[in-house]
Amino acid sequence: MSELKLCQGPECHQHQTKDRLKGPKDNKTYQTRRRSGFYYGNNNFCSTWCQAQWFNKFGDRAIDHFGRTTEVKHLTEQNAWTKDYDWRASADDSHRYYFINGITKEQRPLTEAQYNDNNYTLNER
Ligand SMILES: [Zn+2]
Repeated sequence: MSELKLCQGPECHQHQTKDRLKGPKDNKTYQTRRRSGFYYGNNNFCSTWCQAQWFNKFGDRAIDHFGRTTEVKHLTEQNAWTKDYDWRASADDSHRYYFINGITKEQRPLTEAQYNDNNYTLNER
C-alpha cells in the first residue's frame, strides 16, 4: 500500500467533520486528513478551504521567496506562444502537438517530448 499524504492545510484538523474524527473509541480527536492523493493545490490539500488557509498564512512569504511581480507584463508576439494538441482517438494515430501564438495565431509543430517538457518554450523571457 502506498504511503498516505497529509493535507498541508495549517488548520485542517480544526474543521470538525466526521471523517476527521479518529482514534480509539474513548479518545477520538479531530485530525489532519490523510489520503493517498488530494485534488487541490498540486496534490497537497484536501479542499480549497485548506488551500486558501495555507495561502493566507504563507502566500506572501512564498511570493517574496520566488519573486514578486513588480512590473506590468505585456502580451506580445514574442511571448504569446502556448502549447496545445489535437486529440486523436485511434491508437495508430498519435495526438498532434503544436505551439500556437496567441497574437498571430501561427502554429508550429511540436514533438510529444517537447510538449511534455515544461522548460521548452518559444517565448522570449
Ligand atoms: Zn485539509
